Amino acid sequence: MTAGHSRPGPRSARVDLDRSSSDEQIIQVVTAWVEANVPRPWREAAPGGRAAIRAVRSRADYKAWYPTFADSGLAVATWPVAYLGLDLTPDQARVAESVLAPFNLGRLNPLGLNSAAPALFAHGSKAQRARFLPPMVRNDEAWCQLLSEPGAGSDLASLATRAVLDGDEWVLNGQKVWTTWAHVSDLAVCLARTDPSRRKRHGLTYFIVDLHAPGVDVRPLRHIGGEVDFNEVFLDDVRVPDGHRIGAVGDGWRVAGSSLAGERQMVSGSGSGGVDRIGGAGVDRLLPRARELGRADDPVVRQRLMAAYAEERVRDWTNRRVRATIRAGGTPGPAASIGKVHQGTLNQQTQMVAADLLGAGATAWERGDDYPDNMPLEVKGMLRSRANTIEGGTSEVNKNILGERVLGLPREPDPWAEVAWEEIPRS
Ligand SMILES: Cc1cc2nc3c(=O)[nH]c(=O)nc-3n(C[C@H](O)[C@H](O)[C@H](O)COP(=O)(O)OP(=O)(O)OC[C@H]3O[C@@H](n4cnc5c(N)ncnc54)[C@H](O)[C@@H]3O)c2cc1C
Repeated sequence: MTAGHSRPGPRSARVDLDRSSSDEQIIQVVTAWVEANVPRPWREAAPGGRAAIRAVRSRADYKAWYPTFADSGLAVATWPVAYLGLDLTPDQARVAESVLAPFNLGRLNPLGLNSAAPALFAHGSKAQRARFLPPMVRNDEAWCQLLSEPGAGSDLASLATRAVLDGDEWVLNGQKVWTTWAHVSDLAVCLARTDPSRRKRHGLTYFIVDLHAPGVDVRPLRHIGGEVDFNEVFLDDVRVPDGHRIGAVGDGWRVAGSSLAGERQMVSGSGSGGVDRIGGAGVDRLLPRARELGRADDPVVRQRLMAAYAEERVRDWTNRRVRATIRAGGTPGPAASIGKVHQGTLNQQTQMVAADLLGAGATAWERGDDYPDNMPLEVKGMLRSRANTIEGGTSEVNKNILGERVLGLPREPDPWAEVAWEEIPRS
């Protein structure tokens, strides 16, 4: 398999931290690393916040510089050293992140780190971890996930993409949809049906698919904000080596579960101490914006900011509980659905406040040649946030998961659960 469009550059040094490092040592070492490695203009812009950093740091600049961050070990500080981590405890990692946070060093390749990596850690072989994790951390190979299909979203286990073994390779045929970032990715985790004669959850297997392989056709879809985030992906006799199967044949549902829990955790924000939290112009950014626009004294604005602030606190406490479970050696499992449901709605709420602060400016703007680039950021964010209660599993489905697996309520009836997949009627 090729490394896609980017080639690994020379490695820079890993920071000198380990599990015995004290909080003071961590702060000292990470501060020194920032001084030595984060370009001066980015550091100087940091006190001005994200907008100021963005003004001096293009996405391309950040991508080009990013391997320096990855090689330091700080991008995945809790991961084993062999996979470009530092093997720090989550508490130590949070101390490091508190030093990094002002510089807005978000992690690239989030679907690799949060979806593919959990499956590789829980079910992959040592050889697979050694092959795929380091380039993932350095963003030398970008990842996406080929799960949903036109006829299988909430009921993912009903999916129809087929994988048939031919010698020591699998041949994949089918169509996926909603595939976030497939148009800019090199690799994907992919759930496919290997045995249609078994019940729908039992005949599935999890694979790593090279998106540059012959037979992969990625077609971008434009969303309401005018941009391309996701795609439909057609697989036409795509050959996948058996060595790129994660977990056992027929065990794909369980393996994909690690990816889905990781993704829900990512969307909920409980997966990190804050450096790469997804979404939401949080209240800490909304309040200065309201002041800037002369709206901070408006009682209605104040009330909405306060409500959002209270919700944020609840979200943070919930995420802390999930992190405590992880710290105690558990996996977030269904509990990650709590954060996912809450964060989806909260993000929509805060994005709506941000757009409303613009007043009429949120409903009309010049449509220049560079559409959609001239759409106000707040409007883009508000429109994009509509998807937060759908992506990574809808809120309704996550509430079902919570009801059944956390509250112990009776299972939702599924008349097809015990029937062979090939016997289930489909349109
Ligand atoms: C922006 C975005 C990015 C995405 N990225 C990816 C990606 O990278 N990879 C990927 O594989 N998928 C991705 N998805 C797909 C996403 O996981 C699905 O859209 C989602 O699981 C819902 O499936 P569906 O769209 O088929 O809707 P359906 O499953 O058809 O649901 C339709 C409606 O019925 C409700 N519903 C369905 N079943 C139940 C039930 N049992 N109980 C109560 N209500 C129910 C749903 O809540 C929803 O309101 C993305 C989606 C979006 C919007």
